[in-house]
Order: sequence, then C-alpha cells, then structure tokens
Amino acid sequence: MAEKITMQSDGTLTVPDEPTIPFIEGDGIGIDIWPAAKSVLDVAAAKYGKKVEWKEVLAGEKAFNETGDWLPEDTIMAFREYLIGIKGPLTTPIGGGFRSLNVAIRQILDLYVCLRPVRWFQGVPSPVKRPDLVDMVIFRENTEDIYSGLEVEAGTPEALKMIELLRDAFGWEIREGSGIGIKPVSKFGSQRLQRAAIEYAVERKRKRIHWVHKGNIMKFTEGAFQKWGYELVREEYSDVAVGWNDCGGDPGDKILVQDAIADIALQQVLTRPAEFDIIATLNLNGDFLSDALAAQVGGIGIAPGANINYVTGHGVFEATHGTAPKYTGQDKVNPSSLLLSGVLMFEHLGWRDAADDIVRAVESTIGDKIVTYDFARQMEGATEVKCSEFASAVIDRL
Ligand code: NAP
Repeated sequence: MAEKITMQSDGTLTVPDEPTIPFIEGDGIGIDIWPAAKSVLDVAAAKYGKKVEWKEVLAGEKAFNETGDWLPEDTIMAFREYLIGIKGPLTTPIGGGFRSLNVAIRQILDLYVCLRPVRWFQGVPSPVKRPDLVDMVIFRENTEDIYSGLEVEAGTPEALKMIELLRDAFGWEIREGSGIGIKPVSKFGSQRLQRAAIEYAVERKRKRIHWVHKGNIMKFTEGAFQKWGYELVREEYSDVAVGWNDCGGDPGDKILVQDAIADIALQQVLTRPAEFDIIATLNLNGDFLSDALAAQVGGIGIAPGANINYVTGHGVFEATHGTAPKYTGQDKVNPSSLLLSGVLMFEHLGWRDAADDIVRAVESTIGDKIVTYDFARQMEGATEVKCSEFASAVIDRL
C-alpha cells in the first residue's frame, strides 16, 4: 500500500517502501524522456523491494490545455502534501502571468537550494582533456539575488519613480532611460544555503567547500555572502570545518572552507578542476557556473538537478534542460538528465543501492557506446539508439 513520505522533527525524512511521488511529465520532449526515465527507476527500485506509486500532476502546456491554468493549485498542493516530486522540462508561457514556471515552483515552495552535482561518466564525449577530474557539487541559492524578479522597465512610470526615489533618498544618479533590477541578498538566505552545503559535505565525506562570489565589487551582497559563510563555519561548524584564514590552508582532518571570486572561479573550474569539490554560490553565479560545468562533462542532456528545502523537507527533482520542442515525440533525445535527477532523488530518499546501480548501468551502457544522437554524433564507433532503447539498454545492465 502506497504511503506518504513524511518529515520528522529532527529534520530527517521517513520514507516508506512504497511512497507516493508526484511527477510532472513535462512539455515537449517530456513525453519521450519521462517514460524512459521512469522505466529504469522502477526496475532499479524493485530490485530492493521498493515501489514508487507515481502520481501525475499537471503543469505547463498540458495543464493549460486541460485546466486553463499553467500551474494549477492542485499541483502545488500535491508537492506540499507528498514532499518529494520530480518533473520534466516546462515551456515558459508567453504572457501567461509567469516569468518562468520553474522559478514559480521554486519560489512558492521556498526551495532554496538548487543542487547540481557535476561529474563525468566514463566514455561521455567532452570538450576538455581531463573530464575525469570534474567531480563537483554546486549549491546555488534559489530564492534571492537579481533573480527575484524585482525589476522595472526603462521608461515606465515605475522606473521614473524609482530613479527619483534613489536620487532623493540616496543621492544616486541613475541615467534616464534605465531599467532597474534589485539584488537582495540576506544573511538568512545565504546561511541556510551554506548550512546545506556544509551538512552535505559532512554527510558525503567531502573535503573542501568554496564560497563563490563577486564580493570584491558587490560588497554588501556578494561580499556579505562570503563573510556570512565564514561566520557560519566559526559559529556552528568549528568541530567539522575550518575557514582558510583560520588554519592557514591546513585544515587537518576538517573540511577546508575557502572562497573564490566568481570570474576566476569560472576559469579555475576549467583549468584546475581537481581543486574544486563543493561550491556554494548566489543565484546568478550558480546559473552560469552549473551550465558551464555541465558542458565539461557532456552537456545538458546528462546533467541532473534538484530544488530542495532541507528544513520543510520539500524537494522537486528536475531535468536541467528545456523542452527541445523540435524533437518532441521522436523518441530521440537523451533521457539521462531526467533519469539522473531520479537517481539524485533516490539518494535523497536514502535508496542509495538502487541509485548506485543505475549509475553503474548508465556508465556501462555508455561504455559500450550505446548512446542517443547527442553523444553518437561526437563519438567514434557509437551505436545510436532511440531514447526508449537507451533506457532498455540501461535496464539490461541493472
Ligand atoms: P532546450 O530545450 O534545453 O534545448 C536546447 C538544445 O539542447 C536542444 O536543441 C538540443 O541540442 C539540446 N538538448 C536539450 N535537451 C536534450 C536532451 N534531453 N538530449 C539531447 N539534447 C538535448 O533549450 P531551448 O530550446 O532554449 O528552450 C526550449 C523551451 O524550454 C523554452 O520554452 C524554455 O523556456 C524551456 N526551458 C525549460 C527549462 C526547464 O523546464 N527546466 C529549462 C530551460 C528551458 P541540439 O539542437 O544540438 O540537438
């Protein structure tokens, strides 16, 4: 009998063997990748006596066509009630009242961590010489920064009023005809993200954390993020972690916490990837960094992601690419991003064995050069298979 996943007062999830998990199939190639990913997840779970009761909820075009609503209240209610969910890509509605459905889901459920592990799978074509050195986990702040949507358009009465207010109250001269965006970064928002990164590092026995920021220029937002990060280490985690300046770069057996300016960090993750492990950063930096890193290990067709609130227990796991509409219904694209997001979800639920099995089976499938078009076009001697055939090949190797 299917049961709900619940959150305990100590912050841990209780996961039944047959949990109900809501899913959004997704628009465009969602109809191809969701069934493929689901089939692998189901077989892997069954090996360990687990069974997910998948509950379909609607968002995006499918929701709009069936209910007239891009993001129905029932969908949000289901994610609230069942805590953990998974989703395919969604079309951004034009003039639908949403800047982005993905951003809306993150904001409504206050999913403050965007978790993006980036690692290379043996055999995946990569533009760099040593993709095997890339094994990083990005914690991107999901609710603040210039992404908050607090913007006024150039030339509107709102923009004029804002320019006037800034001149009168602060003496700031802003050029006429400017659009203006606001960049809020709070201590609360920064430290809950940084706390999640430290806890993850402790649990996974990771050795190093970087706070990535642009604090040399934006001192009271990005600079404050860095400062609050080091304060947190000193005040709450001095038994397990230590900041670079407090140990001269020699942390003993503790986790070493250091920081890097965003621009140089974007160079160094490319030139010295082995020096990076866990990265925690603000919203916009995290957006750039996660896609740039994904490119090093094979691109967005294989990069998984999750949006999590570790305090309430809510989590929505998702493919990181879009709906790729030109491939819709062709059974062609790579299902790995959504499948590996499911793996991330299994890990989060404590189903580590099933998660590890899928990773091994994906590695072995790609190692045998059985791949979808996106990898086949970059590999010598590959066998190009359809989306569903790739899933079957993974299942054969489970
Ligand atoms: P996209 O859908 O990510 O597609 C861009 C390109 O990435 C595709 O043409 C394809 O490259 C490659 N690609 C994407 N998914 C792939 C997969 N599973 N396997 C192999 N290759 C894959 O980006 P877009 O065309 O800019 O956006 C289309 C729509 O998606 C828009 O409505 C956008 O708002 C939305 N979107 C949604 C999300 C989300 O829901 N999380 C994220 C981004 C965008 P090739 O052409 O080289 O084969």
